[in-house]
Amino acid sequence: MRIVHVDDIAKAVNELVKKANFELGRDVVAAFEKGLKDEVSPAGRAVFGALIENAEIAKRESVPMCQDTGYAVFFVEMGRDLHIEGGLLQDAIDDGVRRGYAEGFLRKSICDPFTRKNTKDNTPTVVILELVEGDRLKIVAAPKGGGSENMSRLTMLSPAAGKKGIVDFVVKRCEEAGSNPCPPVIVGVGVGGSAEKCMTMAKKALLRPIGQKNPDAELAELEAEILKKVNDLGIGPQGLGGSIFAMAVHIEKYPCHIASLPLAVNICCHASRHKEVLL
Ligand code: SF4
Repeated sequence: MRIVHVDDIAKAVNELVKKANFELGRDVVAAFEKGLKDEVSPAGRAVFGALIENAEIAKRESVPMCQDTGYAVFFVEMGRDLHIEGGLLQDAIDDGVRRGYAEGFLRKSICDPFTRKNTKDNTPTVVILELVEGDRLKIVAAPKGGGSENMSRLTMLSPAAGKKGIVDFVVKRCEEAGSNPCPPVIVGVGVGGSAEKCMTMAKKALLRPIGQKNPDAELAELEAEILKKVNDLGIGPQGLGGSIFAMAVHIEKYPCHIASLPLAVNICCHASRHKEVLL
């Protein structure tokens, strides 16, 4: 049994949330560069140019790439031969976020849903935990902006709706979202599972690198079909009109109840932030 102390988890999370907010993934920057070449609208190309410059400045000067530094969401894989010493995993992650958001001068955006009183340290966090084989702890920090998160939807389709129903719903959701999720976006889609599993899959789908094909040929085809349709809406970068609303569509699926066809959409803005550490 390997032992990891909560202090080491908090320290790693502290660094992770700052890095996630300062440094975009290489895949996202490459998608911006591709957009700069491929976007048909001059205004849209200007947006891609500004996003590339913004990403460079954020990384170089260690400043957040967006004023909304996000809800601190974590995907954690914990090996079954690992023991956490000194406290609870959730408390350790919250502690790291508390320190990281203070040290990095990251905006604190979490409040009570009724009183709207800010918790002032960006906690509590959301931790999605999965138990896996082995003795390691993989932590992925995926801060999520409110503007794009507000565009999320879950629907329970009739099983008879089939693929057409799935495509129609996702495309309509993107059309309704318009400029609100700060395009160019990544569209995460969950199909199947229970209601909560479906929403989690849609968000987790956003972690897949842009440009990496779905290993399931049927899903890869569906992703390509939806990507073309949402881009044909003409919303374009920042909603200024153009040919690239989405840089990618990522779908995850899971078996579902015979009476249901759950479908979730979670859109990620161009500030597609996620960083991971292995302890
Ligand atoms: S949706 Fe994303 S890019 Fe837009 S304000 Fe929020 S975090 Fe920033």
